[in-house]
Amino acid sequence: MTVRVGVIGAGMIGQDHIRRLTDVVTGARVTAVTDLDAARAAEVAASVGATAYPTSADLIASPDVDAVLVTSWGPTHAEHVLGAIAAGKPVFCEKPLATTAEDCLRVVEAERAYGRRLVQVGFMRRFDAGYRQMKQVLASGSIGTPLIVHCAHRNPTVGDTYHSAMAAQDTAVHEIDVLRWLLDDEIVSAQVITPRATSKRFAHLKDPQIMYFETANGVRIDLEVFVNCQYGYDIQCETVGEDGLVRLPDPAAAHVRTAGQHSSAVLQDWKARFADAFDTEFREWIASVTAGAEPTGPSAWDGYAATVISDAAVRSLESDGTVVTADMKPRPTFYGGTA
Ligand code: NAP
Repeated sequence: MTVRVGVIGAGMIGQDHIRRLTDVVTGARVTAVTDLDAARAAEVAASVGATAYPTSADLIASPDVDAVLVTSWGPTHAEHVLGAIAAGKPVFCEKPLATTAEDCLRVVEAERAYGRRLVQVGFMRRFDAGYRQMKQVLASGSIGTPLIVHCAHRNPTVGDTYHSAMAAQDTAVHEIDVLRWLLDDEIVSAQVITPRATSKRFAHLKDPQIMYFETANGVRIDLEVFVNCQYGYDIQCETVGEDGLVRLPDPAAAHVRTAGQHSSAVLQDWKARFADAFDTEFREWIASVTAGAEPTGPSAWDGYAATVISDAAVRSLESDGTVVTADMKPRPTFYGGTA
């Protein structure tokens, strides 16, 4: 069976995922594309032999669409995901699931009412080989009970539309998701403090930021977010347990020794760093749709949790580093909780 995918939003990541579904993943075909910019939708659709649709509602309703991929602008995600659930179609939504906790809960409630999982949220780090190795080590018990996690998320530079709250909402949100999964634990509070700001970028931006999170089991996480670090795209993660530690491997790069120096290259962007993770994410999503099974990737509940926790971090940033509780509803049994 070939899964016929309809794509809502043909921008940067939408086009990248269309390429992935067309050239990398077997068992999938992009049959429908829509975008606010009709000319862009037509051009992208034509490039893969798909049909351009005037609206997302038309695309979701199309008998040529088995599953929906949402890659539009964040504030529109909830509307499209709710439309797919109403049509009973599996839907992959790029992060964020929605830009407010209330809208995330609307999706959660709609999915629960539907009665089975249809939604997967695009937190691709769970599909990265290095994080999966860390997860296996933690699950094996070889480093004992985890106590502390040290992380860094560094980008070389960001554009002038990037503002201070995006450090939590767009950047740290990836650590928030992957650490909840890695530790199999919930984040209950956030605190954000701002050291001396780099002079290399815009005066309006608080960069770097240091974020502290605490989990329900008392694990302490520190995360440096530094989005104008100049030297490269660098993701670090180290979990310290009672009997040892496990560290995220750096991407493989040749070691060069010459002229009295030894060196290895540092990647320059997230697309290269997580290219394999994105491929695996889509292979596994398409496999679940093909099998008629529920998706195994990040759920609508994970999307809700990530939004609540990043909102808490933003509130801490805006209140000069107060510790802010992540005000989350109890997790329903539908999503593996007890409520
Ligand atoms: P982008 O280049 O601005 O693309 C968004 C596209 O969606 C644009 O073509 C936009 O059209 C279109 N669009 C907006 N509202 C729409 C609607 N209601 N119906 C149909 N099309 C609509 O943005 P992007 O960088 O691709 O990001 C898209 C999403 O992916 C964001 O939520 C972002 O956070 C997420 N993302 C995730 C990752 C990751 O690491 N997982 C990485 C990058 C992006 P106009 O240009 O005409 O407005």
